Parts: sequence; structure tokens; C-alpha cells
Amino acid sequence: MSATETAIALADEHSAHNYHPLPVVVATAEGAWMTDVEGRRYLDMLAGYSALNFGHGNRRLIEAAKAQLERVTLTSRAFHHDRFAAFCTQLAELCGMEAVLPMNTGAEAVETAVKTARKWGYRVKGVPDGRARIVVASDNFHGRTTTIVSFSTDEEARADFGPYTPGFDIVPYGDLAALRAAVTDDTVAVLLEPIQGEAGVLVPPPGYLAGARELTRERNVLLIADEIQSGLGRTGRTFACEHEGVVPDMYVLGKALGGGVVPVSAVVSSKAVLGVFRPGEHGSTFGGNPLACAVALEVIAMLRTGEFQERATELGEHLHAELGLLTGTGKVTEVRGRGLWAGVDIDPSFGTGREISEKLMDRGVLVKDTHGSTIRIAPPLVISKDDLDWGLAQLRSVLGA
Ligand SMILES: *Cc1c(COP(=O)(O)O)cnc(C)c1O
Repeated sequence: MSATETAIALADEHSAHNYHPLPVVVATAEGAWMTDVEGRRYLDMLAGYSALNFGHGNRRLIEAAKAQLERVTLTSRAFHHDRFAAFCTQLAELCGMEAVLPMNTGAEAVETAVKTARKWGYRVKGVPDGRARIVVASDNFHGRTTTIVSFSTDEEARADFGPYTPGFDIVPYGDLAALRAAVTDDTVAVLLEPIQGEAGVLVPPPGYLAGARELTRERNVLLIADEIQSGLGRTGRTFACEHEGVVPDMYVLGKALGGGVVPVSAVVSSKAVLGVFRPGEHGSTFGGNPLACAVALEVIAMLRTGEFQERATELGEHLHAELGLLTGTGKVTEVRGRGLWAGVDIDPSFGTGREISEKLMDRGVLVKDTHGSTIRIAPPLVISKDDLDWGLAQLRSVLGA
């Protein structure tokens, strides 16, 4: 057996099969490239679902992590540490907001947003106890906890994990009238992805986010933007909401906030909203730890320059121009996205997303399929234009275009 086959067989034998990875075993990575255990190189066009916006082994992030590893890595929130204030101040500033509640994974940050909204509803809005409701969108992806899968419309993610947490109303994504109809006096929040990532990079119709903003303001409801995947440069802006000039009441951040080095997530909002928490009411042993703060501070510093947003805009225009040409081939039915982020629907008669992904892997390009017939393209924002073009050439070859 090859080194690849051996590693995969052992992983299959000793791990839960909650993923169906492509048969590649990565050993090292740098920038937009990964190298497998047999020395083959692959262009990473997934970037850890946008956790790796700044590329593999980004020197600034690695140096920040190394320096912090030598100082202090964990205090728990029982004590203060000297990276915490800077992290909260600078993240709040990047978001144009006032306060930060740090967690680790995206799902934890979404859970935190749900708890915050409910508590705000009872303590500030005055919703009668136990009646708070949160409106969410169909085809959402907000994480994997029991509460979050309770409001998923993806049966694969949801089935067999009940009993489900009540208190959520699901409306079709992109339908402003349905959103308006779902909001009642008991609604405390509307939770949306500004662009739905896992659903296949679905961009809502123009005016949807702005309409949701207006509606939530009118009805004294929090607008929560889950920018875990869409945020931090991916779409050409720091936040995807900016494309519609929308500022939500709360950002939920994760993935790229930890630079692909450590898990870092956060809820960012106003003092009035995050001020609902008192000591003991919510927390996390690792949330806001010194190592996480040191890495995230470097991520924030890189985003402040605007250079990654600019890159995503420029390369994104090129990516979408090139992908647009594929819709004429008959092999691709639709291309969606914004910035350096695209969902490409493959005509099912030509092949599944998985088959296309495997063929791309054989040509040295790594992408991930989603929902059967879609492949998602989201390379690190540091990818060179030549490498992007090379990756696109492999896609054209696989499609016989
Ligand atoms: C990935 C993702 C999450 C969950 O993040 P985890 O770190 O995997 O828990 C939540 N929301 C969105 C939009 C995501 O893309």
C-alpha cells in the first residue's frame, strides 16, 4: 500500500466517519499550496472553508503565534492577560462596534449570539419570559450543536439529533415578504448569513439585507449577521454586509479570525446588547486565550490595511469573469458568488460535484463539493493570479471546455 492508502485505511479504521474527505493526505502547506505525504503538490482552492484567508503558514501569523507560545498561552478568564484588552478593542474597532465576547469555534459564537439575543429580548425588549423567538433562513448553515441543528433545514445535519430546541422560525432565504410576515412582538432576532456559504454560495437578491435591516430596526429586533464564512475579506470587503451598506446589530465571526492557526470566534455588538451578561452567565475556558488573541490581533492588523480586501476584489472579478465563460459550455448551469468566492453548479448529467472534485484532485487542485452538484471555489486571498489561472485551466480541462 502507498503512504496515502495506509494513512487513509488507518483513519477509516479509527475515526468516526462524520466526513467523507477526498483521498489526499496532506503533510505540509505554504501559501495557497499543499504537499501530500508522497510529495505531490496541490493548489488549495478551498482554504479551510475560508479559515485560511491569509494562506497556509502565513509568516506574520506564525511569528505572532510563536512569540506568544513563549510568553503565555492560557490563563482562563479567571484572570486578566495582557493581550485581551487589545484584542477586544481592535476587533470592536474593525467592526465599528463597541464590545466583544470571545469564544473558540463558529458554532459556539452562534450559540452565544442566540443566548445574547434571548437575554436581550427578556431584559431589554421586554418579551414575556420563555417566549423569545428567532427568525432564521432556510438552507442556513450556522454550525453543528443540538440547538443550531434544531433550526437547520438540511435533514442530513438534523435527522436523529432531536429533541430539538424550540424558539426558531424558518423563512425562505432571500424572501423579504416572508421575513416581514414572520416577525412578531416576541421576535428578538433575525439571524442570517449575508451570503449562504454551505448552501452553495447563495447571494441573496439585491435589497434583501437592506430590507432586513430596515424591518428589524422598525420592529426592535436584533439583526445578527453570521459572517463566519463571508467575513474578513473573502468577498472583497471586511464584511459581506457592506456590499449593501448594512450594519447589523451583531456580527458573528470565526474561521479566518484565527488565521487557520487556532480556533478563534467572537460575537461583536453594542454595549447595550452585550451588556446583558453578568459574571457567571456565559463563558468558555479557552475563549479569549492569549494565544488566540495574539493571532487574531495579527489578523485584525492585516485586515486594517485593506490589501486583502482589495486582492479579493481584483482576483474575484477575474475569477467570476472566467467562470462566467463556463456557463456557455453546457457543463455548468450556474455560477454565483462575490469576491474570491464562487459556487459552481455542475450539470448533473455531466457529473456530481464529488466526481468533479476528484478529477480536479488528480490534476492537483483541491476543492470541495456541496449539495450534490455544486463545487465551491474559495482559494486563500494570497493566491497569485498565475496560480488562480492555472487552477481555472484545470477546471476547464476537467469540464472538457
Ligand atoms: C463554518 C460556519 C459555522 C460553524 O463554525 P465552526 O467553527 O465549524 O463551528 C457557522 N456559520 C457559518 C456561516 C459557517 O460557515
